[in-house]
Order: sequence, then structure tokens, then C-alpha cells
Amino acid sequence: MQEKQNVLVLNCGSSSVKYKLYEMPTKKLLTSDYLQQIKRDQYESTIRSVFDKLSSFEINMISHRVVHGGESFKHSVPIDDRVKEQIRELSRFAPLHNPINLLGIEIAQSIRPDVMHVAVFDTAFHQTMPPSSYLYALPYEYYEKYGIRKYGFHGTSHRYVMNRAQQMMEMPKEKLRLISCHIGSGVSITAIRFGESLDTSMGMTPLAGLSMGTRSGNIDPAIIPYIEEIEKTDTAGAIEILNKKSGLLGVSGVSNDLRDVMAKAEEGNLRCQLALELFTTHLHKHIGLYLARLNGVDGIIFTAGVGENSPEVRQLVCNGLEFAGVIIDREANLNIKGEGFINSPYSPVKVMVIPTNEELVMATDAFQLYLSTPQPVMA
Ligand code: ADP
Repeated sequence: MQEKQNVLVLNCGSSSVKYKLYEMPTKKLLTSDYLQQIKRDQYESTIRSVFDKLSSFEINMISHRVVHGGESFKHSVPIDDRVKEQIRELSRFAPLHNPINLLGIEIAQSIRPDVMHVAVFDTAFHQTMPPSSYLYALPYEYYEKYGIRKYGFHGTSHRYVMNRAQQMMEMPKEKLRLISCHIGSGVSITAIRFGESLDTSMGMTPLAGLSMGTRSGNIDPAIIPYIEEIEKTDTAGAIEILNKKSGLLGVSGVSNDLRDVMAKAEEGNLRCQLALELFTTHLHKHIGLYLARLNGVDGIIFTAGVGENSPEVRQLVCNGLEFAGVIIDREANLNIKGEGFINSPYSPVKVMVIPTNEELVMATDAFQLYLSTPQPVMA
């Protein structure tokens, strides 16, 4: 029988620390916590307190979430000095995330230098995209010299739901065309062809693509200098507006939380109605784009906070996709709890709700790497 190992999954975000401790290969969740509003100078003491809290558990390896892996990382990897250097170097693309991810790694390594640490990248799953998906129509040297291209994000989530979808559909992923809609406070859609990411909506950074809770998604880039002029700010100030004051929040003027926007829309607030319409139209249009990219689709997946919990959004997004064989069952869509199908039995395309579980992917990757790494023989 395989030896059991405990994997600590650590996700150090820009203002939070989330962790889950899994027993592998049983996938049993032993404990978890989500610590919010952490300031940069509090990370060390926060992470130390996590390890103190976990002192009664054995920890055999640690799996760290890293947002940007650039072109260097196509898979999860054991962390060594070279990997850390590359994560640091990639901070230029993810200045809010990679430095914090790296800080988390370094603190955890200083506390537990004796165990294997693994990095799992949000971008890795999308490294299969062809140049026609990832290149911007800019001078080619910008790509070659500076790495300006689409990288895509939420890769761990898209990979998880793809693997669940093939099990639910009882078809190997190598035969499936899937459109995975991760709709949380960040939103990204991925066209998955035969088990690989073919195209995805986020770009060089997670600001691109569809409108989100507070992010604008794609806009005409010429708007940026105009915002600078109107707001008497610099480029960083304008980008901050696109990142933090746009999307549902910007259009509604009420909230970045879809639940609030929907409640006010229901009461007749026009800007909230507009924000909801814009949000769902972006999703609908992007599915259209990927129907073309994939030459049709076998399954559409909804995941993350909104995708898992909002039947209204799922219905609005799928309305008008009947031409492509996407037919939702109203009752199933309203009543679904957890994982399942929401398409009508007559729908050629399967439509699924799949609660994402990025942490389980991170634990599994670390455990797989542990199994494939030669272990030192004890004397
Ligand atoms: P994050 O990207 O922060 O992990 P989540 O995937 O947890 O985000 O999604 C958070 C968002 O999900 C919230 O901002 C909220 O708008 C939305 N949400 C959660 N539950 C519901 C619900 N029942 N109906 C509509 N939206 C919901």
C-alpha cells in the first residue's frame, strides 16, 4: 500500500493567506483556514502562526500557489534557487502577486527547510496555446525580447474542472471540446481542445478579457491616456481605475458583488440592470468566440463563486446559444447543488456546474512530484 503523506497547500495572496492540509493519496482534507487583511509586514508572523496551529499534524510537503510562471513553467515544479529566481524575475508581469508568493515560499522554507516545496502556477495550463492565440498584433520583437504575450490565468481551476468534466461526461478529455467559464471576482473563459488550453480570455495580466467585479476587461487602449487626462493622473493611476473601480462596481456604482448588483437590479436600479447585462453579455460573446475557435463544443462548464451559485447568470449567458445546441433545463439550473448537469436531456451540448478545487490540484501535483522524485535512503 502507498504511504500516506500530508500536503500543506499554501496560497499567499496580495492581502490574504489561505491554507488547506490534505492527506494524500486519500485526498482527505484535514484542516483549513482563510486569513484576510494581511499587510505585507505581517506575512512572516501570519505564516509562523499557521505552522504553530498545525504543530499537531505531520507536514510532509508544501505546495505553493504562484500566479505568474511566464513561459518558464509549463507544469508544477519542486522549488530550488533557480525557480525562485525565475519567480522573482516574472514579478514584472505580476507585481502585486509574484513578490508575495515568493515571500510566502521563503518564509515557509525557513520554517520547514526539511520538506519538499512545490510551486503551482496559474499560467501553466495555458502554455499549450498556439501563437495565434497568445501573440498580440504588436511588433514581434516585443514578444521575443520582452515576453509581451497572452499568458492566461486561473489555469489550475480550468484544469480541475476539465478533469471533473471528463469523468462526469464519461468521455476521455482527448475527445472533448470544452468551454470552461471561471466566474468569480475575477473572470476567465478557456477553450479547451482535447485536454489542452487552446485559448483563454485573460492576457499578459489578469486585467484582460471580460468585465469582472472591479476590473474592466478589454477596452480600447486609446482610452487610457484619455483617462489620465480627465483624472489628472499617470498611467499607473489609470490602470488602477481599470483594475479597482471598473467592472460591476464601475458600471453599477453600487458594488463589485454580483449579489448586491442583482438585488438592486431587481428593485429597478437601471445602472445595476445595465451592469448585469454587460457582465453576462461579455460572457455570452466570449462563448461565441470559443464556439468558433473549437468548431463547436461538447460541454460548457460553470465554476467559481458566480458560476457555481448564480442560476440567473448561467441562464442569461446561455440564452441565445440554442443554435449551437446549448439548451438549459430551467429546473435543473435552479435546483442544482454542488456538481451536476443543468442541460435539458435534449441538449446536444452538456452544460455542467462544477465547484472548483484548486487546492486539491495543488496537493495532487505536489504528491505526484514527490512520488517521482528519488527519496534519500535513510542510513
Ligand atoms: P475569488 O475570485 O475571490 O476566489 P469567488 O470565486 O469566491 O472569488 O467568487 C466571489 C464572487 O462570487 C462574489 O464577489 C460574489 O459576487 C459571487 N457570488 C457568490 N455567491 C453568489 C450567489 N449566490 N449569487 C451570485 N453571485 C455570487
